[in-house]
Amino acid sequence: MDFAKLKQLLQDKKEPSFRFKQISKSYYSGRFDSFENMTDISKDLRKFLSANLNYLSLKPIKTSVGEQTEKVLLETHDGQKIESVLMNYDEWITVCVSSQVGCPLACKFCATGKMGFKRNLTTDEIVDQIIFWNQKLFPKYVGRIVLMGMGEPFLNWDNVISAINIINSKEGLDIGVRKISISTAGVVDRIDDFANLNTQINLAVSLHSADQKKRESIMPIARQYSLEDLKKSCDLYAKKTKRQIFFEYALMSGVNDSLEDLSKIIKFIQSNHLFYLNIIPLNKVDGGMTPSNTNTFNQFIYGLEKARINFSIRKSFGQSLDAACGQLVAKN
Ligand code: SAH
Repeated sequence: MDFAKLKQLLQDKKEPSFRFKQISKSYYSGRFDSFENMTDISKDLRKFLSANLNYLSLKPIKTSVGEQTEKVLLETHDGQKIESVLMNYDEWITVCVSSQVGCPLACKFCATGKMGFKRNLTTDEIVDQIIFWNQKLFPKYVGRIVLMGMGEPFLNWDNVISAINIINSKEGLDIGVRKISISTAGVVDRIDDFANLNTQINLAVSLHSADQKKRESIMPIARQYSLEDLKKSCDLYAKKTKRQIFFEYALMSGVNDSLEDLSKIIKFIQSNHLFYLNIIPLNKVDGGMTPSNTNTFNQFIYGLEKARINFSIRKSFGQSLDAACGQLVAKN
């Protein structure tokens, strides 16, 4: 919802000042799905607001339900389509949020990268993905957010940061910063800006290789920002915030799963005690890479264990729905 417009409309109607807070609180809770149903305000005001303001800025087109996972295809006012995923497998209901329509980074293994870039999402469009789920879940609600959907959040900096402020604020969704994670493919300048924000929002970096040439071959952004520069910024971030950084590494057959790759990633993670490695099984994407075979996967894990580095293997949910990491694409 466009809150600036809501404020203006309420002023035009000479409503008391508490009305704005009342409506926004109801809105964020997901208790209602339209002004018409907002039974705690007068009929007249409901009618006026419905006539002058869109409620949710996104229109759900299709939902798919899987085991502990649900995916929705949402349409924007200009007919663009994005996806958002709900994961319900531990104490907090987590939502994976998109930051752009498509993505300009074209990582070779990622479905979103293959659809190209359409545009940035607005702050409302980012927040409303969560409101959509809150409406569906009410009286339950989303407790954790990961900005790991479609797009590169650090290339839509202003809108993403404003959205996070709303998500975090007491008057907004009131989700603690430690329950918000943002993942970047390595937009180095923005990692520096992020460090300067001095926030406790979790930072994840999609690394996928600790070898410059190999990283370039799967992630074109590595040509713009070298591994060396990326590491420098991550070191600075860790020093400044004293927070861990989560490096994402999806094992791809013949690409980043050799013994040489293993020793390079071990060295990289060992170089800073705040670096943490997340091994992700590669999810299938048309025309993408092949996941490492079980033997190679296990050997790689054994090597990481032997080196005693900080790592975990992230389970992959939502594969049956094409709703797992890197599988989001607006095919409809
Ligand atoms: N642009 C951001 C966030 C979106 S992708 C980024 O790159 O971090 C979210 C995560 O999914 C990233 O870690 C990304 O590298 C990973 N990912 C992309 N395609 C994948 C695939 N096919 N299998 C597993 N993980 C993938």
